[in-house]
Amino acid sequence: MRRPIIIANWKMNGSREKNTSFLEHFLTAVNAETCDIVICPPLPYLSQIQQSIEITAINLGSQNVCQYPEGAYTGETSATMLADLGCQYCLIGHSERRLIFNESDKSIADKFLLLKKNNITPVLCVGETLQQRENNETEQVVLSQIDSVIHSVGINNFIDSVIAYEPVWSIGTGLTATPEQAQSVHLAIRNHLKTHNSQTASGTRIVYGGSVKPENAADLFSQPDIDGGLIGGASLKAESFAEICNVLS
Ligand code: 13P
Repeated sequence: MRRPIIIANWKMNGSREKNTSFLEHFLTAVNAETCDIVICPPLPYLSQIQQSIEITAINLGSQNVCQYPEGAYTGETSATMLADLGCQYCLIGHSERRLIFNESDKSIADKFLLLKKNNITPVLCVGETLQQRENNETEQVVLSQIDSVIHSVGINNFIDSVIAYEPVWSIGTGLTATPEQAQSVHLAIRNHLKTHNSQTASGTRIVYGGSVKPENAADLFSQPDIDGGLIGGASLKAESFAEICNVLS
């Protein structure tokens, strides 16, 4: 049985005051017993959030990590530093980083390996653009994003990571993939993982992201190969994010 996981990606939003108020409301509204919950705040707030969730069941995640281990990389944050700050998870390969910051498959694979070395669970984000979907290239795009990491790090390193399927056309647009559309890609990912290793295929948690809201979360999460969600906009409001997490309770 895979334990569901719900991840908040706050992107570049928040302030010390907003974060405090979020946690006050969220912690009273959420039932954190039946799924893993992760909050990924912007880097400057990792310590603030870590201190507030220390005695709760909520986990800390980062939105990014440097592909190099340490040294002269101005402005970057290493996997070792994230571990030192108490991060248990880290997003990599988010489409905003691939498209706006030109992240390559190679740098994403390097980040993946550094996270594993520091006992941080990588959340590998994959997804197709609208044009790729319209050209019937969805599976090819998504599976090749996954394979480029597996080929580089090896399937044994892939065990216990999380995959987030986020169609680019559904991020922040209000256009959610239907539960059937999402399930079909999740199943294709799981079947593909089987060709590498059947244990990894059945154990890997594959979450869906893209305009998940309290109103559509239950239908998405009830699909057999959807093991939770990666939530952007709706994770900024304590009540909506708690409602989404509580769908699984
Ligand atoms: P939205 O939930 O705002 O569509 O964002 C999804 C996302 O990109 C999460 O990583």
